Amino acid sequence: MSEYKLLINGALVEGDATLDVINPATEETVATCARASKAQLDQAVAAAKAAFPAWSATSMDERRKVLVAIADAIQANLGELARLLTQEQGKPLQDATGEIFGASAFFRYFASLDLPAKVVTDDATSRIEIRRKPLGVVGCIVPWNFPMILMAFKVPAALLAGNTVIVKPAPTTPLTALKLGQIIKDIVPPGVVNIIADANDLGGELTKHPDVRKISFTGSTETGKKVMASAADALKRISLELGGNDALIVLDDVDVAATAPKVFGAAMQNAGQVCIAAKRIYVHESIYDAMCDEFATLAKNMVVGDGLEQGTQMGPLQNKAQFDKVMGFIDSAKKDGKVIAGGERKGDKGYFIQPTVVRDIAEGSQLVDEEQFGPVMPVIKYSDPKDAVARANASIYGLGGSIWAKDSDKAWALAESMESGSVWVNKHADLQPHLPFGGSKFSGIGSELGEEGLKEFTQVQVLNMAR
Ligand code: NAD
Repeated sequence: MSEYKLLINGALVEGDATLDVINPATEETVATCARASKAQLDQAVAAAKAAFPAWSATSMDERRKVLVAIADAIQANLGELARLLTQEQGKPLQDATGEIFGASAFFRYFASLDLPAKVVTDDATSRIEIRRKPLGVVGCIVPWNFPMILMAFKVPAALLAGNTVIVKPAPTTPLTALKLGQIIKDIVPPGVVNIIADANDLGGELTKHPDVRKISFTGSTETGKKVMASAADALKRISLELGGNDALIVLDDVDVAATAPKVFGAAMQNAGQVCIAAKRIYVHESIYDAMCDEFATLAKNMVVGDGLEQGTQMGPLQNKAQFDKVMGFIDSAKKDGKVIAGGERKGDKGYFIQPTVVRDIAEGSQLVDEEQFGPVMPVIKYSDPKDAVARANASIYGLGGSIWAKDSDKAWALAESMESGSVWVNKHADLQPHLPFGGSKFSGIGSELGEEGLKEFTQVQVLNMAR
């Protein structure tokens, strides 16, 4: 009997199979959890479908109360959830604590929103309103880099709008999601939230299921394309939050010593496993050498280790496949550029990689052109800022980007021409609950968060009456 069960129709149930979850810092099993079969996925969808009429008929106030109760429950279990998140995901405990707290904050944020009917006409001849109706059963598919916060981009918005949900975490990080199921079991009515775990075999089943009306997906661009294709048959709504290759452009007037740690942090947070990590660092030629030296020093001083150990600044890569992929990027970067810090695995147990800085590298190399999703930063030299923006834009991706400069007018003007869903000036990866977040080009379709994100879980209805 596993401690970590599926939540289906308000009950915690064993899976038809089990799944071993590995701690990436030790390569040992953290826990064996329930793994759903296709039949159990069908049960979860049937439960969500059955729960939809009653849930969508509740008032916004009733749904808000449930969201706040979930937020309170997450906060009440903050310590336990954070430890579990570190054990399955690898990130330092302090970051895991921030993520769990953030998840509760996102539930609270959505509880503060409304979806009021807009009265377009109200006169002697007619009354016309534009309304926002829920869609039905929503599938929420989540990756392994931020299992809890990315779930909290989706679930509270879907619920507030009146939908019922199936949550499917990534197979390497299902434990916090299943734990959440235990915590909220008695808070949400049966069937309104269902949580299943799989071994990478049920995502496709969920996206093609005829009774699911929308898929809210966060993950890689390659899987996003599959989601889009399989959602077509039942004309499902989709929102896709996909991969990125964010460019960060440093102009020549910055204070090098003050800027370098911030840029470095934007690249290395969560061991670089952030969709909006800075993944291509463009630095003006006049400060290039000085910046590279600062980055190398920061990389050499970074404390890499088990996220449960005090003082750890960077944990391991989350899983073996990602570790192997990033080591492959490093191998090719050794040929395409000059490694000035890191460049090797750290230790021989756990999926640790030394923070790695690569200079004298340019477009045409794997590390610059593809998404590394790991602690390896390419530093690219440029001479003309407009050319740097053009090079930044010459990517299939368009998730985030940033410009760093003392002259903020100049930075703002350059930022306007970046082709990405979010552009920051003198900061990077600043996500806030009220700001819509989404990608352009191959980085996604639609947005999450903010009122725009909430509306993506609705469909428009025009109610039009003659008088
Ligand atoms: P992934 O695409 O491999 O997996 C994501 C989720 O999709 C997992 O839950 C997985 O089980 C599921 N899945 C697998 N096959 C599926 C299928 N055929 N149909 C439906 N679902 C399926 O991604 P990953 O490796 O877990 O995550 C890393 C990627 O996610 C990176 O590219 C990163 O940039 C991206 N990401 C994007 C955002 C964003 O908001 N844009 C945020 C975080 C991560």
